[in-house]
Amino acid sequence: MNYNVNEKGYYGEFGGAFIPEMLYPNVEELRQNYLKVMEEPEFKKEFNQLLKDYVGRPSPLYFAKRLSDKYNTKIYLKREDLNHTGAHKINNTIGQILMAKRLGKTRIIAETGAGQHGVATATVCALMGLECIVYMGEIDIARQAPNVARMKMLGATVVPAKSGSRTLKDATNEAIRDWINNPVNTHYIIGSAIGPHPYPDMVTRFQSVISEEIKLQLIEHEDRENPDYVVACIGGGSNAAGTYYHFLHEENVNIIAVEAAGLGVDSGESAATSVLGKEGIIHGCKTMLMQTEDGQITEPYSISAGLDYPGVGPMHAHLCKTGRAEFMAITDNDAMNAGLELCKLEGIIPAIESSHALAIFEHKTFKPDDVIVLSLSGRGDKDLQNYIDYFKI
Ligand SMILES: *Cc1c(COP(=O)(O)O)cnc(C)c1O
Repeated sequence: MNYNVNEKGYYGEFGGAFIPEMLYPNVEELRQNYLKVMEEPEFKKEFNQLLKDYVGRPSPLYFAKRLSDKYNTKIYLKREDLNHTGAHKINNTIGQILMAKRLGKTRIIAETGAGQHGVATATVCALMGLECIVYMGEIDIARQAPNVARMKMLGATVVPAKSGSRTLKDATNEAIRDWINNPVNTHYIIGSAIGPHPYPDMVTRFQSVISEEIKLQLIEHEDRENPDYVVACIGGGSNAAGTYYHFLHEENVNIIAVEAAGLGVDSGESAATSVLGKEGIIHGCKTMLMQTEDGQITEPYSISAGLDYPGVGPMHAHLCKTGRAEFMAITDNDAMNAGLELCKLEGIIPAIESSHALAIFEHKTFKPDDVIVLSLSGRGDKDLQNYIDYFKI
């Protein structure tokens, strides 16, 4: 079984490029060039240098001793929370801004829901001195004021999407419209392992530095390069794709994907796509997504903004369908408690997204000598108000 993208842009039956005709030249230019560019020694050198000096990589692989003691197994945390800007998203935006420059682009667009990807994009645009336009639903702009302020401070223009439900999917529509109107000078930075081919594969490759480092770091800790389990939370699926990438074809490595169950899988307020989703087309690719009988995308819900997405990337739809990955759905409540537990046991305040991954230990028993590597995708600073309100701190 192949778990990577094939030459037609598919992971099994998922993926492809379902885009308006007028977007074809932009996507095709990227498709024809992305692998060639990524293989250039100069590109690799610049990418790796920035990951090291600007992002602060390699991120540590930390043995969480007290957490491991509590669950009687061996838990390692891959510390993406220590990256510049506080999460894994910067790995991808650094890669894509370098790609945009190689393709001669001078203007960057992006869409953002909670604002995390908008901040990561505005950051690299400032770094490279490129114009940055971020589309964001009007409702999200009101909900995510600190991230809107960050983007503005970094020099980006934040454009409100005022149509429809005025949230992420409306912002995506605006970004696509912009790209159609500006095909020559503009690159569209997508923030997760989603979108039309080649985006899911390109984003996965930029994020694959996570599993590349895990292999080397685990040798130092455990004298072996493969853990028994890799675990990551899934919104669109970019931190997960990067964490799994170099283990996809290692049969002895079990893969666990953690989705947000929200108030409960059957509550009507959930983002557990693997349970609730059906095959459909979102954001230019065929994948699993939450939709009504007549194919309207349903509004997802999760306490964590980064997991509040109605689909998963096509790689993950394939991992789910083939059974290569075990999918678990974690409620708001379980995630919040797991987040607080990490604070008390390890002195690390995790992003609520990452807290979902941490919550699996209450639901699944591991063997004492199992080696588990969990992607701590981000830090909890951005979620402080949520934690305060939830626990009445
Ligand atoms: C955005 C985000 C996620 C979800 O995005 P993926 O593409 O699924 O990785 C997870 N964790 C954090 C901290 C995020 O900011």
